[in-house]
Amino acid sequence: MNAPAPSPSATTMSDKKTATVACPFCDTLNRVDMTRIGRHPKCGHCGKPILLDRPLAISDATFDQVTTGTTVPVVVDFYADWCGPCKIMAPLLDDVAHRRAGEMLVVKLDTDKNPVTGQRFGIKGIPTLIAFRKGQEVGRRVGAVPSSELEAFLETI
Ligand SMILES: [Zn+2]
Repeated sequence: MNAPAPSPSATTMSDKKTATVACPFCDTLNRVDMTRIGRHPKCGHCGKPILLDRPLAISDATFDQVTTGTTVPVVVDFYADWCGPCKIMAPLLDDVAHRRAGEMLVVKLDTDKNPVTGQRFGIKGIPTLIAFRKGQEVGRRVGAVPSSELEAFLETI
């Protein structure tokens, strides 16, 4: 009678977890069922695997479709290759993408190659992390942060 209540194991079917991501090989946009990523989704165009346990690239061309076409939170890492602090953040984000695969989508945007999106969101320094839900910004963190702060940020989105 004082036993803890069992944690709910049923997920609501109405809130389907899907992500829209660009294939890293051919750039075709694919819709992926986030509850079935263990089944190794493949690109509908080229048939190569779409690996969601690491940050996928996002671009000016695919940004809107990915952020609005994904029902789980999307965390965008605005970075550039020459940016030292970005290199410090990269393995932390790899780890988040791996541990939270299916729960959130971690993507990275190269601000040198994709200036339009960087300008649109007023990116003044990198790395900048912005979290989106259904296309709306729900959180932002500027600068490299230790993993504890990164986790705290992820809890707020
Ligand atoms: Zn492909």
